[in-house]
Amino acid sequence: MTVIESVAEMREFIAQVRQQGKKVGFVPTMGALHEGHLALMEEAKSSSDTVVASIFVNPTQFGPNEDYDAYPRTWKSDIDACQKIGVDVVFRPHVADMYPQGWGTWVSVDNITEKLCGQTRPGHFRGVATVVTKLFNIVQPDRAFFGQKDAQQVVVLMKMVRDLNMNVEIIMVPIVRDPDGLAKSSRNIYLTPEQRTAALVLSRSLLSAQQMVIQGQRGCRLICSEVQDKIAEEPLAAVEYVQMYSFPDLQEITTVRDKVLLAVAVRFGTTRLIDNMILEVKE
Ligand code: AMP
Repeated sequence: MTVIESVAEMREFIAQVRQQGKKVGFVPTMGALHEGHLALMEEAKSSSDTVVASIFVNPTQFGPNEDYDAYPRTWKSDIDACQKIGVDVVFRPHVADMYPQGWGTWVSVDNITEKLCGQTRPGHFRGVATVVTKLFNIVQPDRAFFGQKDAQQVVVLMKMVRDLNMNVEIIMVPIVRDPDGLAKSSRNIYLTPEQRTAALVLSRSLLSAQQMVIQGQRGCRLICSEVQDKIAEEPLAAVEYVQMYSFPDLQEITTVRDKVLLAVAVRFGTTRLIDNMILEVKE
């Protein structure tokens, strides 16, 4: 496994790989790797000749009062995990190399970034779209792998790729959960044991919504308010949003039809967790 820390070196490496006609699979991450990230890498391995994973805590996607400085950085164990899973290259650029003095070009995706997480994290998706564009330009992947855990991010990036005619295929990988249902997240380590137990209400409430749909319920408002009530029963949980949109275009809906994204964001103390489920109705 090769570790590359400079943008110029990464470009050189990728030029050689592409000259050999190899297909490049790319997994962008912010590190603090867990099984969710590793599932993306496994998926990339199964359909690419060369797998590049990036580890970059991207400052431009964090708001001024968010956890950029405190974000977990676990470089040594991340490298071991990448090696073990069979990643070919770990790209770990420095902030000054990605955002040199005088840098000032942004990519912003309209219409779908204002809702869900965009409401409470203004500028977040502009930071994500910008850094992913830069990474795509540097790594030039054939395919890039993202988790359903951040479903809105996947939708935003698919739209960005389409709108800007980028030559890369975005693949969405299902959410990886702990055995008790909590979606894996680098931020789970912030939770106290009590908060972690309380956070199980997320997957529980999503599953109960799925049951409602299986039993024939189609009203989005009713489903959302049931989920909201269920989460509110948990004293340590503060709901930020419980919302449903059509998937993957994220349009407003009132009834469940075809594919629907049910997404939640909930705070446990200062830790903000997100989770979601894609509900499908074939009728
Ligand atoms: P992050 O390091 O949090 O920016 O995440 C990097 C990638 O891993 C993103 O595409 C995430 O959606 C994905 N990811 C994070 N957690 C999970 C999970 N529990 N299951 C699947 N993918 C995940």
